[in-house]
Amino acid sequence: MSLVNVNNVSKKYGNQFALKNLSLELEEKGQYAILGASGSGKSTLLYLLGGLDKPDQGEIEVDGLSLSKLDDQEMADYRNTKIGFIFQFHFLLPSINCMKNILLPAEIGGHKVGPVKKQALELADYLGISQCLKKFPYELSGGEQQRVNIVRALSLKPQILLCDEPTGNLDSENSQKVTLLLQKLSLEFQSTLAVVTHDPSVAQRFQQKFVLKDGQLLEAQRAPDAAPPPPAPEN
Ligand code: ADP
Repeated sequence: MSLVNVNNVSKKYGNQFALKNLSLELEEKGQYAILGASGSGKSTLLYLLGGLDKPDQGEIEVDGLSLSKLDDQEMADYRNTKIGFIFQFHFLLPSINCMKNILLPAEIGGHKVGPVKKQALELADYLGISQCLKKFPYELSGGEQQRVNIVRALSLKPQILLCDEPTGNLDSENSQKVTLLLQKLSLEFQSTLAVVTHDPSVAQRFQQKFVLKDGQLLEAQRAPDAAPPPPAPEN
């Protein structure tokens, strides 16, 4: 059964459609690339899926919830409990250290911080950034900040992990590494993964792709010859 149903969704900015009559489905625990040129509507789709914005027309249902029917508080709860976001730019708060950045969504959402901190410590160890947690974001390299961002997004074990050009400022080798890492982590956390990218070499690592053009779904591909999903990590 589909976890996410996007039904005939349109979103306009001024006179221009960012998304036009778009429908697609995401399966629970599926891994998807959303590919398209700049301006094709990828980020708009991701923001709508993540409850950061609402469509002008159509409906998005996630796990039986109709997002358009949620009030502001329910939408905040939806984002906080179901969604992990990873953006190209990290949006780490500069005035607090990395662990405090990681714990912030849990604190805002009223979760118990202890288990989240334990989870974050394990993930940081796995990603090799334990030594970064007491540092401030400006003391870290771009790659380290990206990993802190990944720990923050995963520390509440989100059902859906939404990534907006997560490899946008990385060279091609590191792009492939981060893509593989996101795939491994989403498998381990049993999260549905959607990665927005303009880079076909990132998209080709996914068996399932949605290609957008001018706010419309150009094609949905399920490629048998795509790179296979990575094995689940042992630890
Ligand atoms: P992509 O992520 O594929 O680059 P976007 O979803 O960011 O595409 O944008 C799709 C279209 O909507 C573009 O034409 C863009 O200029 C426009 N757009 C996106 N966000 C806004 C906004 N907040 N205000 C006005 N226009 C926007």
